[in-house]
Amino acid sequence: TCTASSIADALRSAAQVITEHRDELVRLDREIGDGDHGENMKRGFTAMVSKLDSTELATPGAVLKLAASTLISTVGGAAGPLYGTAFLRAAAAVGDAAELDAALVAKALQAALEGVVARGKAVVGDKTMVDALTPAVAAAESVAEAGGDVASVLSAAAEAADQGAESTVPLVARKGRASYLGERSAGHLDPGARSTALLLRTFAGSAR
Ligand code: ADP
Ligand code: MG
Ligand code: MG
Repeated sequence: TCTASSIADALRSAAQVITEHRDELVRLDREIGDGDHGENMKRGFTAMVSKLDSTELATPGAVLKLAASTLISTVGGAAGPLYGTAFLRAAAAVGDAAELDAALVAKALQAALEGVVARGKAVVGDKTMVDALTPAVAAAESVAEAGGDVASVLSAAAEAADQGAESTVPLVARKGRASYLGERSAGHLDPGARSTALLLRTFAGSAR
């Protein structure tokens, strides 16, 4: 099942995974950015867990909305408003449903991507989190349409996001700080694409 409390648990796991990967994300961002992505994400997800622990929320949408507002106010940088918008759009997409089925999960992911693109104007190939999220959404939708359950939708999304993140390595960045490096941004994994893949992998693990 995919209820308010199981989504809150998935976000708690995400906070743990982000914390475990804090140094890796910092290292990736040092290579092509300013080195704060791991710390930004750790701060945001840690704050989110505190809020989740002190708030009783009835619906998945309410949990996603709390996640969004916390990320917007605590992550900072480029990623904070982008992830915040992603969760806010996902919250809007699920409305006040008490439980999410596979189709709603796919719809929420699609809405999250639309939010990131509306906010950041990146397209696939610009070497951003969009390179991880776009194939994840496509995979989620095709599994949902084929009748897959929530766990299989999320595991397909996670697999595609991993490959999408890896695909950023040879790319020259055209958005965000990494774009200031021009050709020198090639040969490095984009930190935001990596964090997106980590989040989706964690959500898939939580749904099993
Ligand atoms: P900052 O670059 O402000 O220090 P972070 O380091 O937290 O912020 O986040 C950097 C990540 O944000 C990048 O790796 C990239 O994936 C993502 N990003 C930056 N700009 C955009 C954008 N316009 N659209 C989508 N993602 C972006
Ligand atoms: Mg940074
Ligand atoms: Mg920064």
